[in-house]
Amino acid sequence: MHPVEPGALLVIGSPQLAVARQRPCDQIGGRLFGRRGKSVGHDLERTSVAANSGQPFQLDRECPLTAFQLHDGLFRPRTIEFRAKALDQYFPASAMEDTIRRQVQSMGIDPTANGRVIFDTGDREGKRSRAFCSPVRVPDEVYLVLRPHGGQTDWMTFLHELGHALHYAYMRPDLAFEYRWLGDNSITEGYAMLFDHRLKDTGWLKRYTELGPSRIPGYLRKTGFEELHFLRRYSAKLIYETDLYGGGVPWDSLPDLYVDRLTTATTFQYNPSDAFVDVDPRFYAARYLRAWQLQALLEETLIERYDIDWWRNPRAGPWICSALFSEGQRELAHEQAQRVAGKALSFAPLVRSVERMLG
Ligand SMILES: [Zn+2]
Repeated sequence: MHPVEPGALLVIGSPQLAVARQRPCDQIGGRLFGRRGKSVGHDLERTSVAANSGQPFQLDRECPLTAFQLHDGLFRPRTIEFRAKALDQYFPASAMEDTIRRQVQSMGIDPTANGRVIFDTGDREGKRSRAFCSPVRVPDEVYLVLRPHGGQTDWMTFLHELGHALHYAYMRPDLAFEYRWLGDNSITEGYAMLFDHRLKDTGWLKRYTELGPSRIPGYLRKTGFEELHFLRRYSAKLIYETDLYGGGVPWDSLPDLYVDRLTTATTFQYNPSDAFVDVDPRFYAARYLRAWQLQALLEETLIERYDIDWWRNPRAGPWICSALFSEGQRELAHEQAQRVAGKALSFAPLVRSVERMLG
């Protein structure tokens, strides 16, 4: 048992939270959400150009369409498995933790944050199969729990959860409770994505996986389509969810609207029975979209500052810790983007990265 943090008892009446409550929803959820999805709709148009510009993409026979799956409290589709199972052998379980810890060290970050991140990597009966991060005391005691199986999804999930864990563990201990535990989750999701997007980075793949140069272009093309699909799916979801809660569409019309929005955006057939199930709580889709934008902008900023292989530049890690992680979730994602990159959040860096992957 750990004592309850003093801030926890004050949270209801805290001035910071009061300010957060006064902010209109569009600022909390993000500007994307504010104008009934107009901005997202515009970007759906733009990314459809990217989707149609290359050669047609065909899923491998082995890629199944599967049902929705509950993960981390959110419904996410496993509708389309873009990843070829045959490539999983190049992401072995035995090498995962050591390799990724070594990479993090090479960019000047202690992966344990001086013991504050505790890796629970052993196997035991009943242990959940997917990696997750559990901040018990921020920043002093953060658990990264995993049961390595190997494969692309495992490596990606480990990197994602490590991004969260390091964010929590490198926060300034003197930050107010609200800035360590609450705030705009687009920030922590953005850092987690910055880490997990190394599996979309040619140089990183060459150096840290067994994929080999000849397989990387094909792998990246599949990964690029997966990224584009999720991006368009979440954009369409946000537009649909604003209608769902907006009160302007009769309830019995919503299933057809859901199918129309999601199917048109992704070109995969969605099912009307998911119209009230495939819904992220509290417009979390907006957080994901802003996190996506933030990670793409941060990646471009890191490349400008520390070169294409910033992830092994010993000067990059200290900057990430002091300019990004240490600030907790003090800022909203667009405020943070403006402070560290001097730019507004947008889909432009993301579209550029998807186009690179599609080749
Ligand atoms: Zn996450």
